[in-house]
Amino acid sequence: MLPIRLFGDPVLRTPAEPVTVFDRELHRLVADLTETMVDAPGAGLAAPQLGVGLRVFTYRVSDEEQGHLVNPVLHFPDGEMQDGPEGCLSIPGLSWDCRRHEHVVAHGQNMYGDPISIEGTSRLARCIQHETDHLDGVLFVDRLDPETRRAAMAEIRNADWAGLSTPMIKASPHGGGPYGPNVPMRNAPAENDPFGLRR
Ligand SMILES: [Zn+2]
Repeated sequence: MLPIRLFGDPVLRTPAEPVTVFDRELHRLVADLTETMVDAPGAGLAAPQLGVGLRVFTYRVSDEEQGHLVNPVLHFPDGEMQDGPEGCLSIPGLSWDCRRHEHVVAHGQNMYGDPISIEGTSRLARCIQHETDHLDGVLFVDRLDPETRRAAMAEIRNADWAGLSTPMIKASPHGGGPYGPNVPMRNAPAENDPFGLRR
């Protein structure tokens, strides 16, 4: 299991690049994502959550509904929506109701570069939308209604993991950085938009 990047890490706000090379490195990434998602445990995991800026995610909402998708493009066949609780491994221990499309068709590729598509309803549809958002630097808190969002931001600021250093910054020669253990997240430079408040 690899360390999962937490809310406040800039990599989670950086749009990921399309995959163009379907090599062993990509296969390794899919294996790492799958293993970390299952161990966490979580219903899905996107590459930026492991600090990798590529358009890949894995999902597992049931034994029958699990896999991975590279370079996803989503289509919504109708206007039906669903409301329900949503969470994120990068925002551990917290969840809020989030509105999503009920049906989604995701086109993309598998790790060998073959075109595939996934039809999702209910939880799988929610998961696919959540993970694809990660590839665009979007977090589900961005999609909450304004009141829930305000409450969510307060809970995130007060979470026991808030302000924890991310693995990449810990390993940096500068020993800490703006999200280092001694600097609360709220003091981080505004241009990083640590709470996504400008979105
Ligand atoms: Zn997430």
